[in-house]
Amino acid sequence: MEDQMILLKELQGLDQKLNSIGQDQRKLETERQGIDTEVVRIRDMVASLESSITELEGQRSQLRLGLDQEQANVEKSEGRLPEIKTQKEYLAVLKEIDTAKKLNKDLTDQVEAKNTEIAALTEEKVEKEQSLTEMEAQIATRCGEIEQALKAFDKSSNSLVKKRDSLLNPLPKAMQRNYRLLMERRAGVAIVEARNGACLGCNMHLPPQLFNSLFLTQEIKTCPHCSRMLFVVQAD
Ligand SMILES: [Zn+2]
Repeated sequence: MEDQMILLKELQGLDQKLNSIGQDQRKLETERQGIDTEVVRIRDMVASLESSITELEGQRSQLRLGLDQEQANVEKSEGRLPEIKTQKEYLAVLKEIDTAKKLNKDLTDQVEAKNTEIAALTEEKVEKEQSLTEMEAQIATRCGEIEQALKAFDKSSNSLVKKRDSLLNPLPKAMQRNYRLLMERRAGVAIVEARNGACLGCNMHLPPQLFNSLFLTQEIKTCPHCSRMLFVVQAD
């Protein structure tokens, strides 16, 4: 039975190592996910800036077409002026020219506004693209490191699992089950020392008779409070 306790302790040591590797793996995986999410976010921003710019350029083209049209109207009306015979007609054409010029001015202002907007968005897009390029270089390095670390973790996990199973499998089935349950429900600590009359797993006092019996019997006893399997360190 004492041999079993030695085995259980070794088993627990392996499982605790495995748990800590698992935690490290999850941390790295979370980091990698975070990096991926950030890259996607910036790429989406660049794409959305791009589509806004395209839309604005389309609107600007429409405005420029209108402007060309109005410019042509002004020239046409101005060309008619020398041939006009009556004062009334002359004034009417002048008014036409004036209206067209006002429209021209308005369209020119709108084109200018689009230019400003496009320039601002283009600048923002260039900035984002730049930070994306910088990020991608850093990310490539970091993701490579993460990949390597995860592979190393996998390798040591696999060999620890093999070793753990080789220790666990020879134990009686009921003990295996009990051990697994305790590991699961007692935060990865199934085997715990009893010292000075208390269980060091839950820090509760043990009945004196039980505590004393730990020194005498080879049988594996459990804590009545937390159910963990108890061992004592015998004084030399
Ligand atoms: Zn306990």
